[in-house]
Amino acid sequence: MKYPALRREIVAACQDMNRRGINQGTSGNISARVAEGFLITPSGLAYDEMKAADIVLMKTDGTSVGRLKQSSEWRFHTSIMGTRPEVGAVVHTHSMFATTLSCLGMEIPAVHYMIAAAGGSNIRCVPYIAYGTQELADAALKALQGRNACLLANHGMIVVGPTLKRAMWLAVEVETLAAQYWRALQVGKPNILSDKQVRAVMEKFQTYGQPQPAKAAGCC
Ligand code: 13P
Ligand code: ZN
Repeated sequence: MKYPALRREIVAACQDMNRRGINQGTSGNISARVAEGFLITPSGLAYDEMKAADIVLMKTDGTSVGRLKQSSEWRFHTSIMGTRPEVGAVVHTHSMFATTLSCLGMEIPAVHYMIAAAGGSNIRCVPYIAYGTQELADAALKALQGRNACLLANHGMIVVGPTLKRAMWLAVEVETLAAQYWRALQVGKPNILSDKQVRAVMEKFQTYGQPQPAKAAGCC
């Protein structure tokens, strides 16, 4: 079995999503880049039953290697990995607040400066498209242009990162932003930061935290 350590990291990340309450049951999926393509979680397998050997290897030629069928969302994982060379991992969740906003067809505006961690002034929301389709993959790719996160209407969110650790961190940050936005909306009209203010934060993130190697945005 190739890539045992990365497979274990994926399984641990899946179980971490359950513990953190950002996914439940068999919803969501994770991929992480390797030399011949990417590793991806199997379809419909509960995270607490998942073993390293259940993770499927998807090659760039479209073939897959594994004892189980790959995630039904392999198309958007393939599209992202194929067009975003800086991406090392993709995390998809059905977390409560991000999904609630997506059910309203709402994007997340710059309601908190941490939106900058997602790459810009908003987190776009893809209109509803059935799961597992190439149409969804195409629309998600578009919504992720210049961004590291997007919402999928009536479905959930996708985040990307250079590493699995970083993508997992961003998934929790996006869910937190969604919860903050939702709560602010209960009380009144949230103050939205300008593009200039968000750009200034992105600039500041370059030198956030300790000099090296922990460089970006408070993550790990
Ligand atoms: P898989 O179990 O096939 O990964 O599907 C879960 C999901 O979230 C579909 O969007
Ligand atoms: Zn899903």
